[in-house]
Amino acid sequence: MKLRVGIIGAGPSGMAQLRAFESARQLGADIPEIVCFEKQSDWGGQWNSSWRTGLDAAGEPVHSSMYRHLWSNGPKECLEFADYTFDEHFGRPISSYPPREVLFDYIKGRVEKSDVRKYVRFNTTARWVSYNEQTQEFTVTVEDLAAQKTETHVFDKLVVSVGHFSVPHVPQFDGINSFPGEVLHAHDFRGAERFAGKDLLLIGSSYSAEDIGMQSHKMGAKSVTFSYRSGPMGFDWPESAVERPLVTRFEGRTAHFSDGTTGEFDAVVLCTGYQHKYPFLPAELSLKSKNVLYPGNLYKGVIWQDNTNLFYLGAQDQYYTFNMFDAQAWFARDVMLGRIELPAAEERAADIQVWLERQDALPDHDAEADYQTDYLRELIALTDYPEFDLDTVSALFKQWMKDKEDDILGYRDNIHRSVMTGTMAARHHTRWINAMDDSLQRYLNGPSQDVDTGALTALTRDDEQIAAK
Ligand code: FAD
Ligand code: NAP
Repeated sequence: MKLRVGIIGAGPSGMAQLRAFESARQLGADIPEIVCFEKQSDWGGQWNSSWRTGLDAAGEPVHSSMYRHLWSNGPKECLEFADYTFDEHFGRPISSYPPREVLFDYIKGRVEKSDVRKYVRFNTTARWVSYNEQTQEFTVTVEDLAAQKTETHVFDKLVVSVGHFSVPHVPQFDGINSFPGEVLHAHDFRGAERFAGKDLLLIGSSYSAEDIGMQSHKMGAKSVTFSYRSGPMGFDWPESAVERPLVTRFEGRTAHFSDGTTGEFDAVVLCTGYQHKYPFLPAELSLKSKNVLYPGNLYKGVIWQDNTNLFYLGAQDQYYTFNMFDAQAWFARDVMLGRIELPAAEERAADIQVWLERQDALPDHDAEADYQTDYLRELIALTDYPEFDLDTVSALFKQWMKDKEDDILGYRDNIHRSVMTGTMAARHHTRWINAMDDSLQRYLNGPSQDVDTGALTALTRDDEQIAAK
């Protein structure tokens, strides 16, 4: 009987797993029977986002935490697929920090070309998984949301690729329940226009806080206050933005901070991160972790230490994204196909321990980028995933972090060179701060396709003049 592989989730990680098997098939390998369950009606995971919050049309929790005007927050040259370049997809150089729809188009391009859609059961959510130790089989209960039917499927190997930036981590703050303005978590944020003219408080000091804060500034917020727990982000913020230590309590619309200062706010956004949550898995198979570069209990960051038939993709905090999911998926594939032999449990545990100890000693963000680079290097060396210049990518991560320190509102206007093709990115026709239309059409076709208001068109012309100088 053929090996049976189940995949839960068709975001970039699940798509990478499909692509990995297809790549082996094209090279003549006999690949397993594959079924991928995706609860949404399309693939792309976070990148397949809509205006919805709360529950989607099928009554399932809305997955994506992305929003209008979300532009890549890292250079696209750091996430490029080694086997499907931006040049191949777009046929010409594009900028280094594209908006969501452009990256969504790119990740779809690769899998559409590979003809792997046939493996995906869309509108089908995984409800429960059980594992039979004797037969070494997983039984996966899914619900076909359109047909409203429950089904069970049996697999020898199971890949969990549902992401971990969807279920909010929501700390409680005294008095927040009677705050008279709007309170939301970053997961439910869909656009900053509503904060124009408002005094906004963001709790948290990571990517969501930074980006939602600067989006709100761009869309005309009167002031932006960041409240941090561990430490300030320390960027050179625009004048209307400031960082304060942690909120201790709310009294009406007044927030009290731990340094004794106070502020009056119209709205609060909790940018306090996300939980690893796998409601379809029994506790003994379910990863419990903070958002870290190396969650424990996963050999090579992928294989469940206590049951090596279970694989997690994309469970890490991420400097690298799409190409890291590839490296993991190629590795998982080769383990499943028996091309890579797993060492004994003690040896795996020792390997995990080495990575965990090194993680504990990481002194700064530069060291974190090197750490994840070394992780990719190790994985890529184990498979036939195309090698690429990881040291240059790591240097680019460091340059990116420096660019943010130099100019938090302007770093997305910088351009970088692809390590895959050597192509230099094209400068975008509109500076990020002025770009008010993040559609694929506007991105690719530029101001001539402009559907903006006169005021915005004027800004665009201004940009064209700047670019011409
Ligand atoms: P996801 O993209 O989360 O996909 C998981 C998939 O699993 C989804 O399609 C979901 O519907 C499905 N699923 C979940 N539960 C079930 C179930 N029970 N049954 C069936 N299917 C299920 N990365 C970057 O590289 N650049 C960026 O600029 C960037 N911006 C980001 C902005 C935000 C706000 C967030 C939250 C993340 C951002 N990321 C960014 C990181 C992003 O998470 C990764 O790029 C990528 O989407 C992770 O892929 P994934 O497949 O692991 O998970
Ligand atoms: P995150 O990186 O996990 O950060 C969570 C933040 O919440 C940290 O600053 C943490 O503070 C804070 N926090 C947690 N509990 C808290 C508490 N009780 N009180 C105060 N603060 C608390 O999550 P994220 O910022 O949401 O980012 C998630 C992912 O989304 C990342 O991959 C990021 O790249 C992506 N993203 C991308 C964009 C984009 O522009 N493309 C925009 C947004 C998000 P401590 O430091 O003290 O732990």
